[in-house]
Parts: sequence; C-alpha cells; structure tokens
Amino acid sequence: MSKFWSPLVSSLVPYVPGEQPKMANLVKLNTNENPFGPSPKVIEAIQAELNDSLRLYPDPEGESLRQTIAGYHSVKPEQIFLGNGSDEVLAHIFYALFQHGQPILFPDITYSFYPVYCGLYKIEGKTVPLTDSFEINPEDYKQPNGGIIFPNPNAPTGRYLGLEHVEAILQANPERVVVVDEAYIDFGGETAITLVDQYPNLLVSQTLSKARSLAGLRVGFAIGHPDLIEALNRVKNSFNSYPLDRLALAGAKAAYEDEAWFRNSCEGVISERERVTKSLEGMNFEVLPSKANFLFARHEAKSGDALAKALREQGIMVRHFNKPRISDFLRITIGTPKQNDALIRGLESI
Ligand SMILES: *Cc1c(COP(=O)(O)O)cnc(C)c1O
Repeated sequence: MSKFWSPLVSSLVPYVPGEQPKMANLVKLNTNENPFGPSPKVIEAIQAELNDSLRLYPDPEGESLRQTIAGYHSVKPEQIFLGNGSDEVLAHIFYALFQHGQPILFPDITYSFYPVYCGLYKIEGKTVPLTDSFEINPEDYKQPNGGIIFPNPNAPTGRYLGLEHVEAILQANPERVVVVDEAYIDFGGETAITLVDQYPNLLVSQTLSKARSLAGLRVGFAIGHPDLIEALNRVKNSFNSYPLDRLALAGAKAAYEDEAWFRNSCEGVISERERVTKSLEGMNFEVLPSKANFLFARHEAKSGDALAKALREQGIMVRHFNKPRISDFLRITIGTPKQNDALIRGLESI
C-alpha cells in the first residue's frame, strides 16, 4: 500500500497464476500447458517475421488471422474478436457485455479469474453451486442476472456440459449474454461455435494456449454475433489498439494451418489422460470424468495438501486449491508419457 495508489487499486484482489519455476528438471504438471509443443510450422512462421518489418505496427484488426480462424470455424471474420490471450478477451467481455447493475452468474468452483474481473470493474459476481457430483445444472441459471459465464469443460473440475444443456441456459436467458469459455474444448468436447448463428446472446471464447500449445504467444479469441464483437472492439480500441504483435499474428495463423499436428497433439493428450486416470483409480483416487488436458482427483485417505507437498519434494508440481469443497483435490495436468510415468511412480511411493 502506498499513498500514491488509487482507492480502486488498494481494493483489488488479483488473480494468482500457477507457479512458473525458474529451476529446470521439474515435472511441471501445474498450469495445463500442452507438453507436446507447438507445430514446427508455427516456429517457421514466427522466424519469417523476424525482420525489419518489426519497426511497423501490426495490423490492429488482425484481418488475416481472423480470416483463417473464420474459415476454420465456418463463421464470418466480423464474428471474431482477437485478444492477447483469452484472459484479455474475457476482461473486455466483463466490461463490454455484462449488465453491471445485476449479478454476473458463474459456478462456485470455476476459473478463479472471473471474480477478479468482477472486482476490477466493480461488478457483482454471484456464484452458483455445482451439484454434488461437480456438474453444472442448467436449471440453476434461471434467475435474474446481468450475464453468465462458465468454462466448458469446466476448470478445475474437467467436467463437460453437453451442448443441449448449454442451449437450455441460452434459451432461459435471451436478454443476457452467455459466455462459454472453451479453453479446453479440443480435448474431447463439442464446441458451441456451431450455435452462434442461432443464438445472438452466445459468445464463445477460445485460446491457443492449451490445445495448440502456445501459452507463451498469448493469443485468444471470441466468436459471436457481430453486434457483440463490435462492443468488444469499442473497448479494445479504448484500451490498446494493438493487442497482438506481428509474431503472435503470424504464429497463430500457422497453428491453424497445421491441422495434423493439432489433431495428433490432442489425441496424445486424450490417450494419456485415459491411461493416467486408470492408474490413479488403481491407487484409490476418485477421478472426475475429464474432457480437458488435466484431471481433478482426490485420494480416499491422503489430503490434497499433503499429496501436493509430497509430490513437490520429488520435483513434481501439480495444482492444489485451498478452497471449500475442493481442498482434497489435486489438479494434475496431463504431461508427456514420461512425465506421467514420473507422476504415477511418485504417487505410488507416497
Ligand atoms: C487457461 C485458461 C484461460 C486463459 O487462457 P489464455 O492463456 O489467457 O488464453 C481462460 N479460461 C480458462 C478456463 C483457462 O483455463
């Protein structure tokens, strides 16, 4: 605290990202990065941009990348908004598309950035409890609100909500924007992007950080009705007109042009996810059904805190949330087969 801080800054409760250790050789299964790495074509595309053109500003509209993503998802470029990671896209959504006089609904157990955005913009957030089996119940979203947001699959539970249930939430809230945060959709779920032409109140956000293994490049986007996109552009152009630099625009485009690499990478994660699930179940863990690149699991006897600490002593990092309902769970990112073997051996030894 300092006398120079604005009252708003003094009252902020910022998001705490998972640890990015400086040490090498750790088995890093704590922040849901993709262990298989970006396509070599992404690296080539970025290298091709490393020239004198860096003196020029990038395209503020990211036209070429929007065209590529539009083609990929069979929508129009004017239905796409690009941002510096989907976290930035989400921040603009909270500012631009939620009705600030009424509570924003999101699950009690979910991405912990949502309450942070509420605090930043002084909007009321209202948590809606997941069911006892950690599922979203669409019936619970039939109450007055200023907007709705949830990840699908949800984080950190990994549980997926079928599109018919997403539609039930959209239909119950025709006057409000419903945001589906699809950071993990490519690991076995079905995207709601196919519904945007039918529901003008639907906005879907995605990121290149997880399935496309580009967390370090910072690219995310939202897809929805052009009126929703226009609102986001108004905020963006009141904040930072160039959120994506030349390297990010080129790398992201190349990522969408290497479908084979993407498919392979997702399939690798999914098959390892099934293998690790079986191993954990064999050690008396309860593992929630996951359609993400991580597992959410609790042991019948050992506390989450004790397990996370014991793993850390072996150089294995997982995420533990000291929060009501989930303090006995570990969130374990799916790594390479070798990393997953280290995790399994580590847990066996504990
Ligand atoms: C990782 C994640 C994001 C943010 O990803 P970016 O790296 O900012 O694109 C958004 N929502 C959820 C639920 C996530 O797990």
